[in-house]
Amino acid sequence: MPSTPHCAEMKLQTLHLARRSPHRRSLWCAGLLITRIPPTPHLCTCMEPGVGEVPQTTGPSTDDSPQADSHFLREPHGVLSHIPRPAPPPVAETRMDGHFSRAYWSGFKLATLRYPAAVLSGTAIARQIHKEIQASVEQLVAQGNRRPHLAVILVGDDPASRVYVRNKTRAASLLGISSSALLRPAGVSQAELLDLIDQMNRDWRVSGLLVQLPLPGHINERAVCNAIAPEKDVDGFHIVNIGKLVLDQRTMVPATPAAVWEIIKRTGIETVGKNVLVVGRSKNVGMPIAMLLHSDRNHERPGGDATVTIAHRCTPRDQLAHHCRLADIVIAAAGVPQLITADMVKEGAVVIDVGINRIHETGSGRIRLVGDVDFEGVQQKAGFITPVPGGVGPVTIAMVMKNTVTAARNALAH
Ligand code: NAD
Repeated sequence: MPSTPHCAEMKLQTLHLARRSPHRRSLWCAGLLITRIPPTPHLCTCMEPGVGEVPQTTGPSTDDSPQADSHFLREPHGVLSHIPRPAPPPVAETRMDGHFSRAYWSGFKLATLRYPAAVLSGTAIARQIHKEIQASVEQLVAQGNRRPHLAVILVGDDPASRVYVRNKTRAASLLGISSSALLRPAGVSQAELLDLIDQMNRDWRVSGLLVQLPLPGHINERAVCNAIAPEKDVDGFHIVNIGKLVLDQRTMVPATPAAVWEIIKRTGIETVGKNVLVVGRSKNVGMPIAMLLHSDRNHERPGGDATVTIAHRCTPRDQLAHHCRLADIVIAAAGVPQLITADMVKEGAVVIDVGINRIHETGSGRIRLVGDVDFEGVQQKAGFITPVPGGVGPVTIAMVMKNTVTAARNALAH
């Protein structure tokens, strides 16, 4: 059948009709089968009769279920293999939870070109937050106050911890925040460390204080976190700050969960009523992320109002995959490379990779940083994805700086 303008217009109208159809069932029109169109169109496939799927004409509409999503996908990654002749005008552009696809006519076929997920640059988001922090610091100084000061205690010489501390003090100096790194040997006793923390708590020049974790095995991390004055606790690990977080009260939110929140909110990703899977339940990362996202948006510390599932090391692999496929937003914070693969991710989902894993590259033997997500594979399926490095990491550091300025302001208020 020649694809005349009139015919193409009819097909387009049919596509619109199908989208508006309350039953969202398959439509036969102009010799074409338009498979069920979801409420928020994902990949719309339109094909010749007899090619691909059998029309669904019976049974209740289950378009809101994830199974319905996969129903109209012809290939595991939801991409029609046939790419049309060059330069036909786009006839439909759909937005799918932030993911764009264009549909093109090609003879009898409407094929969908799939763009890879939009990569959410943590570096760019951090830059935005930095500007706000700088403005805030300069305002404080212009009002006659001291610059906020961040004190960081580092115990031992773990290379990764040294890098984190260096990144924090470097970020502070870039933002007009003064800082000091207090180094103690790995053999420092718990009593000596608590004594140092006490000195910092009482030093009025110190606005924010953090002890870089992990600590050597002979030191009780909980005792150390609880020794930091809650109002100076820029990591938000003090029991009082955790309690306030759980009760949806305004508090110092731990930096990494706060970073995940900022990435989601600044990108404009909807969380209300969405399914979120948090992979990892640690008290510093997974648990607070889940707290932020499930809680009520109208409370003192607004939450995401999402339906949150938490997976952990005892979650069987098939259950992890099952929950992952249901999730609109997946937040991976397990510290397991390649844990989240493309087959586990729903089409158009938001995937935030918190994991930082150091792996040896085969061949060169060099150490490379990777997250928990198979980035290359998942990028072909997701709507949004954060990279590692350059994703959650830079925003985490920015949130430590923001907490330091908050601590300085709180000190002025009291
Ligand atoms: P953790 O070791 O304390 O916790 C890991 C969590 O993952 C645990 O709750 C565990 O039950 C869960 N888990 C382990 N294997 C699993 C599996 N196969 N399936 C499902 N869950 C599994 O680590 P953490 O401090 O919570 O950090 C998690 C990851 O995030 C690490 O890779 C860490 O390096 C990284 N991290 C990144 C940032 C950042 O700024 N980007 C900050 C902190 C931590």
